[in-house]
Amino acid sequence: MRIAEACKASIINYAKVYRTLGRPMNFICSLTCIPFKASVSCPICQGPLAALSDRRFAVCPRDGVVVNRAYEFRRYEHDYFEKEYKNQYGRTYTADRQSILERNLKRYELVKHLVSPATHAQVLEIGSAAGYFLKIMQDHGYSVHGWEISAAMAKYANARGLKTTQQDFLKGARQHLARKRKPYDIVAMFYVLEHLPEQAEVWQHLASLVRPGGYLLLALPSTAGPMFRFHRSGWYASHPSDHKIDYAPDSLRLTGKKFGFSSIATFSEGIHPHRFPLGRFRLFDRLYRKVLETAPLADTIFAVLRREG
Ligand SMILES: [Zn+2]
Repeated sequence: MRIAEACKASIINYAKVYRTLGRPMNFICSLTCIPFKASVSCPICQGPLAALSDRRFAVCPRDGVVVNRAYEFRRYEHDYFEKEYKNQYGRTYTADRQSILERNLKRYELVKHLVSPATHAQVLEIGSAAGYFLKIMQDHGYSVHGWEISAAMAKYANARGLKTTQQDFLKGARQHLARKRKPYDIVAMFYVLEHLPEQAEVWQHLASLVRPGGYLLLALPSTAGPMFRFHRSGWYASHPSDHKIDYAPDSLRLTGKKFGFSSIATFSEGIHPHRFPLGRFRLFDRLYRKVLETAPLADTIFAVLRREG
């Protein structure tokens, strides 16, 4: 089946499965919320939040995002890739190269039909790290540019012919706006959005960085996944303190809409059937695998949004 058709089929199936499974599960999860006036407001709509059972976390009743009220700012220098990455994912960034490459190839396969490289399409990746995604895009004819906060990673990518500027997101976005530079055809941001405390400003910048009709590609953790639904105390305990916010497909769609994006498709990234009830049994493993391949109900998601206008 061609990718475009697969995308279309996935969207239809996603809508069906998510309506059947996702919404009731969201309702059950919402019962665990205790409404209260939190001192930290929603970073998207600035409205009051409702605390979750662990009061370090709260949910916005309007857009559905989960906010980490105990968020701690962290600098992402070279040691992030060798120490912090290992703490979070069990392997160093460079040792994880093969699985990162495979994940990026999968993302490329899902989006390659959106914008043809023959139109001299420009791709920006924010938080481009060693440039694995940019390399795939460049090899397929796209013009690529990376913004990367780690000087060591930016140097590594530039040495491999991948144009990368060492800067953080807000600095790059403000400069881009001040210098009235052209927006990009595709902007990619993988596992970065959840780290940024200035969410409303970040979304405003994303809207000006993507040309009307262009695409925003996001990979990020999701509260529609089994960890948040079925292993809540484990989710609380393992939640990185430097993640400010957690989205799910619905809250991402609502937030994107607020800032001029429409949701095109959302996919499961990490396929872990064993995290679902009875998922260690072969029959359920197969069933959950099918569900995850069809609907974005994993702990991590890949989302494609289109800039309207
Ligand atoms: Zn909100």
